[in-house]
Amino acid sequence: MEKIAVFPGSFDPITRGHESIIRRALPIFDMVIVAIGENSGKKPYFTLNQRLEWLEMIFSDEPTVKISTFTGLTVDFCRKEKADFILRGLRTAADFEFERGIGQMNKMMYPDLETVFLLCEPQYASLSSSIVRDIIRNGGDVKQFLPEGVDLG
Ligand code: ADP
Repeated sequence: MEKIAVFPGSFDPITRGHESIIRRALPIFDMVIVAIGENSGKKPYFTLNQRLEWLEMIFSDEPTVKISTFTGLTVDFCRKEKADFILRGLRTAADFEFERGIGQMNKMMYPDLETVFLLCEPQYASLSSSIVRDIIRNGGDVKQFLPEGVDLG
């Protein structure tokens, strides 16, 4: 059976931390679906189109990466895509505690689903989309935190 993982997130914007998790997951899974969750309660900084465009560009040379979007529960999206794995990255103990709650609730809703965590690479442990957005708002240069080719214009 094909091993399909969903990597859900806002990617607002995608950072080198996200990119690293996705690339490191490629040898583990037959397919990684990078899925932008459209959360109605959260107004994104970058448009959905812009975030999609970046993801498509970064992984255009990776045949086993698929880019998608979803609304609603991640478990419902996984069912629809016949994905038995959710991929998440762990930076800190705070991430773990947050992810534990979500992962265990997802397991209750979809018992065949496994959440797989990759520890982030040490150089990305402090990197987050929210800090990157703050730097952008204040006119700082975030090039070193974004994947190659992501241009803020
Ligand atoms: P969310 O909106 O669900 O917080 P994000 O787009 O911020 O989504 O993150 C998606 C996933 O990427 C999460 O599993 C998160 O832990 C992981 N992630 C975010 N930043 C990093 C990083 N610097 N290194 C490794 N994983 C990261």
